[in-house]
Amino acid sequence: MITITGLVLVKIGGSIITDVNRENTAKPKVIRRLADEVKIASENANVKIGLGHGSGSFGHVSGSKYKTHLGLIHNESKKGASLTQHVAASLHRIVINEFCNVGANPLSFPPSSAAITTNRRIIEWDIRPITTALRHGFIPITCGDVTLDTELGVTIVSTEEPLRYIANKLKPERVIMGGDVDGVYTANPKLAKYARLVDVIDKHNIKEALSGVSGSTKVDVTGGMRSKLEYAYEIAKSCGASVHIVNAEVPGRLYSAMVGDPVTGTVVRV
Ligand code: ADP
Repeated sequence: MITITGLVLVKIGGSIITDVNRENTAKPKVIRRLADEVKIASENANVKIGLGHGSGSFGHVSGSKYKTHLGLIHNESKKGASLTQHVAASLHRIVINEFCNVGANPLSFPPSSAAITTNRRIIEWDIRPITTALRHGFIPITCGDVTLDTELGVTIVSTEEPLRYIANKLKPERVIMGGDVDGVYTANPKLAKYARLVDVIDKHNIKEALSGVSGSTKVDVTGGMRSKLEYAYEIAKSCGASVHIVNAEVPGRLYSAMVGDPVTGTVVRV
């Protein structure tokens, strides 16, 4: 097993770095603010950061139009897969650019170039370049992406899937998922006024917590909070790390979570 001491894996949700109501529209100022938080956290001697970001209004629109997540199912599937990869990569380049602008030393690792999935799960991905990048003090950045799939031909993986794979290999100390809500609520906080934030999710309340989460209220072919929580629980179970679901729209919150300061949010642990 490879260990990177102090490894913190971070997911930045597509819903905060893009305008989810406008196709292919990034929010460069938000990305730069988050890049700054990541850079400052990575200067902490006890922390090494690996990052993934979602696609928001970039990958999801063409992905759902061509149903790329379902595979090579019709005569426009290949066109759809190419377009979906292309738009996801465009956002990825914007993210990498903003990380460069703040001097965070990012390196890009999109799953579509090297990972193979079976039914949307990564089964092979040589992550030695990521490990080496971390050792040298780069910030490796992956993303939600199209992948070639042994069963489906092609598919889409959300950012959580490459992070799950990396977490299983590298056993991070913490995983942070930064999104547009304070954490996991008893019901969708964008729709239900009575929704309450759940501080801790573990084996005692995971079933109850899952029954309160639903998909996103936006265009999303990869699952919203439900899939995020399922991934969080799986990662916590398989690699023993605590997974912190926090609101990255609040300046400073992602930073606090990355360096291990107490922060408003949901901790998923097993
Ligand atoms: P991201 O782009 O950060 O990955 P998503 O938009 O896919 O995030 O998922 C987060 C969304 O999930 C929230 O904005 C909210 O609308 C929805 N959601 C549904 N149920 C819940 C819940 N119980 N707690 C929190 N969010 C929920």
